[in-house]
Amino acid sequence: MKRHAFSAAAFSGALLGAAMFSAPAVAQERFITIGTGGQTGVYYVVGQSVCRMVNRGSDDHNIRCNAPTTGGSVANVNGMKSGELDMGVVQSDVQYRAYHGEDSFADDGAWEEMRAVFTMHGEPLTVVARADSGIEHISDFPGKRVNIGNPGSGQRNTMNVVMDAMGWDTDIFSLASQLDAAEQAAALSDNNIDAMVYVVGHPNGSIQEATTTIDARLVPVTGPEIEKIIEDNPFYTHSVIPGGMYRGNDEDVETFGVAATFVSSTAVDEDIIYETVKAVFENFDRFTRLHPAFENLNEEDMISDGLTAPLHDGAARYYRERGWIE
Ligand code: GLU
Repeated sequence: MKRHAFSAAAFSGALLGAAMFSAPAVAQERFITIGTGGQTGVYYVVGQSVCRMVNRGSDDHNIRCNAPTTGGSVANVNGMKSGELDMGVVQSDVQYRAYHGEDSFADDGAWEEMRAVFTMHGEPLTVVARADSGIEHISDFPGKRVNIGNPGSGQRNTMNVVMDAMGWDTDIFSLASQLDAAEQAAALSDNNIDAMVYVVGHPNGSIQEATTTIDARLVPVTGPEIEKIIEDNPFYTHSVIPGGMYRGNDEDVETFGVAATFVSSTAVDEDIIYETVKAVFENFDRFTRLHPAFENLNEEDMISDGLTAPLHDGAARYYRERGWIE
């Protein structure tokens, strides 16, 4: 017994010695954080899915990834600028305006360090109204209680564009609330608002929650003002939310939309972005199965559509290796 105990101690001492000796040779772990959105949206799943792919290879590249909830696109841009976030999901209209320093980003100026990584799913501007609200079209908003979104969100940014085009300010609503994305379905069900606005991929948990707890309808966002928005800006397109996705909403609904894009900045190492895109594209089938909104993704569109900022060097390196770009 005694001998055994002694040799065990000697053995662990040897291990410890070996560990101490080899420690400097082990590459240091690097932690990366991806900005997402509310928990019931799709950005949260994008961030979680990218991290899942990255963390599968942590033993090789020593990168550990996490993707907390955030206020959405604009909060993600601000988080990347301040260095709190390494990457983030942002709407293509927000990417464009932040990169060029336009509209709500005019005070900050152009964010030239922004870098595109890839594009994800489409995001229609989705308006869900209580069935008893009298809202059948976005033009019925005046006089109603509408959640126009928290200031860090992409939907708030896009709603500002819609309101400008319609000649509206917040006074036209009887209530213009600024609830976070994850809170709005409950506010609608509790009859605290008449309509919620969400720029989001489909299907998603938030709209599902809203349409299953009460009678609620998706309403069209169309008309000459919307046509002009689409005409004037290359990143806005006509969009249709297919009927049959949500309870009580069997017909297609016309609206306009953007693309969700995955971006970073020049402050993030080339190597980190290289490993991140490699993890996604080498596990692509597995990745696209993680959410129904990812089903139609394909590599070609993902590296060309909806991108304003130049490609990050790390992403370009991987895409070049695959022969996808020159
Ligand atoms: N488009 C929304 C935003 O930029 C987020 C949508 C989502 O979380 O899927 O804030």
